[in-house]
Amino acid sequence: MLLRNYKYRIYPTGKQKIRLEKQFEVCKNLHNDLLEISKETYRCSGKSITSRKDLYQLTNILKESYRGHSQVIQNVADKLNKSYKAFYQRIKEKQKGKVGYPRFRKRINSITYPQNNGCFKFKNQRRLHITQIGSVPIELHRIPKGNPKTLTVKKTLSNKWFISFSCEIENKPVKHKYPENKVGIDLGLENFATLSDGTVIENQRFLKGSERKLKREHRKLSKKKKGSNNKNKQRVKLARDYETLTNQRLDFLHKLSYHLTQQYDFIAIENLGVSNMVKNHYLAKSISDTSWSVFTGMLTYKASSAGGELVEIDRFYSSSQICSDCGNKQDMPLSKRIYKCEKCGAKIPRDKNSAINILREGINTAGRVGIHACGDLTSTDQSASRVVEAGTIFDDSQ
Ligand SMILES: [Zn+2]
Repeated sequence: MLLRNYKYRIYPTGKQKIRLEKQFEVCKNLHNDLLEISKETYRCSGKSITSRKDLYQLTNILKESYRGHSQVIQNVADKLNKSYKAFYQRIKEKQKGKVGYPRFRKRINSITYPQNNGCFKFKNQRRLHITQIGSVPIELHRIPKGNPKTLTVKKTLSNKWFISFSCEIENKPVKHKYPENKVGIDLGLENFATLSDGTVIENQRFLKGSERKLKREHRKLSKKKKGSNNKNKQRVKLARDYETLTNQRLDFLHKLSYHLTQQYDFIAIENLGVSNMVKNHYLAKSISDTSWSVFTGMLTYKASSAGGELVEIDRFYSSSQICSDCGNKQDMPLSKRIYKCEKCGAKIPRDKNSAINILREGINTAGRVGIHACGDLTSTDQSASRVVEAGTIFDDSQ
């Protein structure tokens, strides 16, 4: 069984919005109370209330004072349990600087119904009935496949409403269209990605413009008076701009991952690892960081539904330092854009060299024998590189 997520925009009426927001409020208060009690108990007795069972018990005791849907309320305990687990995990891994303890919440903007035992139901293609909320108008732009399991209702910072639910669908084995096609992908900052055949996938140009615009709007926000109506308006405007940028980005990633998984049966990519992603305030960098992990996620599920295979190789594998031609290893500072091998004299663009190494390592990792790659693995011909503009690569997609 596979889980697939679907997301739809909904248009709750005024009354429904009030009901939903009340549920958000209930969840927020419950979350904060559970956290408070759990913290206090630990402080006084050294006993921790962090396990799912303990949190459920506590919720049951508190439940009388919260008027909300029982499943939604239980899900608050589930989520807190998850953040405790993540917290302990971080301590275990001794991650520096981000061992954040679960936090009190100023607001909660979503609720989750963890099981579908009649608490939500499609009345028709235009309306979804949700218990205690009512029959909510929905834009069902595509029909979900499979059996809906969980439902989440969410309000974005730009005041739009969405629902998402996960469906269980059967995992049917599929044969890939091109079983011989293999590719290695090197993700980068200068270009979004470079493939092992030398194809360069550029970052989109609109990103730069959007970045400048966001900075401007951020500045405007900081100049507005605290708590004022204008500040609030500006906050919504900024949230909307972020949303646009995110949507453009996601669209690009969806199309690219679709194209690659349709074209290649075997894809090798670096495992970037979350802790590898340095937190920083450069927008471009942080966007590529999240883009990369989202992109890898998309590749994973799209590859499996196309009948292909995705292999993530160890992120400590030094793909940029090894000569893809002779295996020699040498220092490669970031400023060097061409790999000039000191041993065999090969000359090859840096990112292409990495991508070929990633593919080779991916094939090794997958325990496959025989290399029959999409690009010629032995070629060091620079002219083989071609630059593809984002947009032109998608001709045959979707
Ligand atoms: Zn060499």
